[in-house]
Amino acid sequence: MSQSEKCAICDKSVNAKVDIKCDKCLLLIHSTCSGLSRTEVQCLLSKDRHITYYCVKCTEKKDEIQDLKQLILSLKSEIESLKNNTSKNQESKHEYMEEIIFEINERNLRSSNVILLNVNESNASTSDERKSFDMKKSIEIINQVADVSTQNIKCRKTNGEQDITIKYIRGIPTIVPIMESKK
Ligand SMILES: [Zn+2]
Ligand SMILES: [Zn+2]
Repeated sequence: MSQSEKCAICDKSVNAKVDIKCDKCLLLIHSTCSGLSRTEVQCLLSKDRHITYYCVKCTEKKDEIQDLKQLILSLKSEIESLKNNTSKNQESKHEYMEEIIFEINERNLRSSNVILLNVNESNASTSDERKSFDMKKSIEIINQVADVSTQNIKCRKTNGEQDITIKYIRGIPTIVPIMESKK
């Protein structure tokens, strides 16, 4: 007995004259196993058959392929969104690192700043004279505590402002209000 003579559903022998053939797997199926109405079976059995018939097994397979396609599509979009998230995370990590490096550099630069308080003031009449007096005094004080070159020292006198600090703005040490330096 060849396979084509058995019903694809119940595996029992079939009769090609009264049973119907699946247009996909080309196997015969008992008209009673097909789940079709008598009229539908009659249509399928007519010699000039115009409609196609897929057995239950072939229809299920078709559905499975549809499900798999759907799954692949949803996985694809999931991968895409994961990729986007990763690159966003790396971007913000990068920005964060830049901020840290900037802060470290600025602290290094600021580490050479010295603030002198309660230095005697000059009574000279011109501001240039007062500046050079401040510079002389500062160098004297620095030389008392450390043996460093005072050649490149720059002097900036405060005017009694409160809440100020030194911040590097474009590489130049600048006295700014503390609130502004936190920006
Ligand atoms: Zn059958
Ligand atoms: Zn089939």
